[in-house]
Amino acid sequence: MFAQEAKQVLSALEAAGHQAYLVGGCVRDLLRGVAPHDIDITTSARPEEVLSLFDGFAIPTGLQHGTVTVREGGESFEVTTFRADGAYTDHRRPDSVTFSHSLEEDLRRRDFTVNAMAMDLRGTVYDFHGGADDLRAGIIRCVGEPAVRFEEDALRILRGLRFASVLGFAIEEETALAMARCAPLLGYIAHERICEEMTNLLMGDGAAEILVRYPRIFGVFLPEILPCVGFDQRNYHHLYDVWEHTARAVGNAPKDALLRWTMLLHDLGKPACFSVGEDGVGHFYGHDELGARMAADIARRLRFDKKTAARLELLIERHMRQIEPTEKAVGRVLRQIGEEAFRQLLAVKRADASACHPNYAWQTQTLDAVEAVLDGLLAQDACFTLRDLAVDGRDMMALGLRGREIGEALDALLTRVAEGELPNEKAALLEWVRARK
Ligand code: ATP
Ligand code: MG
Repeated sequence: MFAQEAKQVLSALEAAGHQAYLVGGCVRDLLRGVAPHDIDITTSARPEEVLSLFDGFAIPTGLQHGTVTVREGGESFEVTTFRADGAYTDHRRPDSVTFSHSLEEDLRRRDFTVNAMAMDLRGTVYDFHGGADDLRAGIIRCVGEPAVRFEEDALRILRGLRFASVLGFAIEEETALAMARCAPLLGYIAHERICEEMTNLLMGDGAAEILVRYPRIFGVFLPEILPCVGFDQRNYHHLYDVWEHTARAVGNAPKDALLRWTMLLHDLGKPACFSVGEDGVGHFYGHDELGARMAADIARRLRFDKKTAARLELLIERHMRQIEPTEKAVGRVLRQIGEEAFRQLLAVKRADASACHPNYAWQTQTLDAVEAVLDGLLAQDACFTLRDLAVDGRDMMALGLRGREIGEALDALLTRVAEGELPNEKAALLEWVRARK
């Protein structure tokens, strides 16, 4: 039922007189009939006993928490001593952990019932909290009193939403109420940990549904989404309010972290840009530019790396711009942003269009036509990049250009060369720039 290597670790621990079980996510996944992506083992053995039993194959990766990584047959297993967590005062981590002799105690400290089951070598399941029933019914439920568990560690709120999204589960009512009540405690959690859970949540099959249901929780660390919730667009292109459109756009995007974050943030500028025309139709002029700036702020706040932040900003800034399916128009965008960003932009536009109105699937056909032109251009190898240009930044500086002027001049040259208006010859290019100075 599970990897031979894991069985060997369990049986070596048992042979030495200890209890040992698979635990947590891997048991959940095995019971669902899904291959676990990593295997955690919990044992009555103390860390130093684990180290000496697997001498030469064990690394003390987290001794203060009782964790030893054991290598067996090319696989790694995290082996952790039964633990009971001490008091929590910072809403993040226990002040202390004590080792325990009881499996039951170890399972009690775990977050959700579906994550609080253990399985021994013979496949017997130890389930003190009704995890198997919840797994069958598709329910995320806290082990113990939900509010207490979220006050101990507020990240569990986001973990719970993440599991619901990824597994397509519902959140049990008491657990959901406590999530809402304890949500402000997410303010104690480091941005990096929030981002990691949020990325996993966005990649889940159930992301759209979870986003629609629990916006006030996400609003604790993304307050910009709150004005979007329930915002009536008053526009025949849009069947949904801004937030529901956003959530659907996330769910319609390919399962790629950058694209899903882009969809999450793409329309944040809308509420502030809203106006109603004389005909009573709602408009959002400039929301793409404002949204791009807001996304850049959020990316800084959540500590995204610079490259991701820049790409997010670019995609949001361009998400409304029409691209004709002609070589001239496609070639221009290609030179401006490159192939990778271009393909991402098309994915963003597809996700956006298909989340406006069920009847808007036809819009994606235009985007398919644009992509076909793009494929054609790339296959012809006809596309110039700045690197192919007969002049470079140093030549521009020699002409006296500085700062942004240099990039702007090179971009302008590239467009003209690619469109056949100028020959790609150094003298001609320098002359053109000189004439325009
Ligand atoms: P994944 O499939 O994402 O790895 P997982 O359930 O294995 O899911 P991990 O973060 O790998 O999640 O944690 C392993 C186990 O440790 C969980 O199943 C749960 O029993 C316990 N756990 C992890 N984080 C917490 C937490 N913040 N509070 C309580 N228990 C936790
Ligand atoms: Mg895991």
